[in-house]
Amino acid sequence: MPHIDPHLQPIETQMRQLRQRIHAHPELGYEEYVTSDLVAERLLQWGYEVHRGIAETAVIGTLKKGTGTRVLGLRADMDALPILEKTGLPYASQVPGKMHACGHDGHTTMLLAAAKVLAQDTPFDGTLRLIFQPAEEGLAGARRMIQEGVLEQFPCDALFAMHNMPGYPAGTLGFRPGAFMASADQVKVTVHGHGGHGAMPHQCVDPVVVCASIIMALQTIVSRNVSPQDMSVITVGAITAGKASNVIPDSADMLISVRALNDTVRERLEAQIKHLIHAQADAFGASAEVHYSADYPVLVNDPAMTEFATQVALDWLGADQVLTDIAPFNGSEDFAWFLRERPGCYLIIGNGEGEKSCMIHDPRYDFNDDILMRGAGYWIKLTQAYLASRT
Ligand SMILES: [Zn+2]
Ligand SMILES: [Zn+2]
Repeated sequence: MPHIDPHLQPIETQMRQLRQRIHAHPELGYEEYVTSDLVAERLLQWGYEVHRGIAETAVIGTLKKGTGTRVLGLRADMDALPILEKTGLPYASQVPGKMHACGHDGHTTMLLAAAKVLAQDTPFDGTLRLIFQPAEEGLAGARRMIQEGVLEQFPCDALFAMHNMPGYPAGTLGFRPGAFMASADQVKVTVHGHGGHGAMPHQCVDPVVVCASIIMALQTIVSRNVSPQDMSVITVGAITAGKASNVIPDSADMLISVRALNDTVRERLEAQIKHLIHAQADAFGASAEVHYSADYPVLVNDPAMTEFATQVALDWLGADQVLTDIAPFNGSEDFAWFLRERPGCYLIIGNGEGEKSCMIHDPRYDFNDDILMRGAGYWIKLTQAYLASRT
């Protein structure tokens, strides 16, 4: 791959091995003990001030050069997923049921590779803050770090993070100003009816029929209550009720996933889902308990920071390697919380096409080591541009 930083070239093999080592030893959210030890050891070795203890396993590395007062924060996630790996690779997960299926092994390695070169070979003027975060997958490690005061203890003027994306050409960098990743909320619903004999439904209130009606009614929210211009998704991913064909159960449970790309739509979805579930249940003489949990917020890239980050990529790689206005994703990402606190940008790096296009969270997915140096190189360029001497 062209445009490799000359200081990264000699450590490429070492970094591929490191990535594969992390891959073979995946750890789930808030349990990244071995991974965070490895990260902290390296950072200390390269002269970073290292802080631990936030959000269980987070590692913060700080390096100051020159007299600049600006502070740049770069974040990588470290956690794996509860998936049984099916890649058959020689460095496949050694822990059955756990797998780096989202490429966080690669994100951690890219930031470490950049950390080494930035400490040893690259001038900059200001403070570089490296944030190695636990528990991105569903457990909101970013929110916990913020709640535990990471940004007060370790202030940053701007924050950036990068995620690999299968299906895009290997090493291509992709940017989008504004809303980029969807919010993800979860709703737990219990419909209480009145159970009884399956042959005498008139003496019961059947919660299964109430759920069926709720599920169909929910489909009208996206089509009738939200503008066709706005993205929204309501998915009933789980429904559980009853055990026998001739028994009407007392209650039925549903789990619903809700996605949107802006807060107005998100609020509208929440209000309408609650209203509709209660109204439907009421119409049948049943009742419903609705637990609406607002999980990951919409990820919004700061326009000015995104323009800056895009320009750094364009100056380095040229227009054919940079996508300046990619479409938003319906997936979600907990870096959204960091971007609610500080301006910054979340960008993607193409993981490759063809055999490298297997989607993240698939048991056959693997991070593409060919893009390690591109990602690391970008962090170096971004750091030099953001922490440029202002004299
Ligand atoms: Zn993921
Ligand atoms: Zn991920």
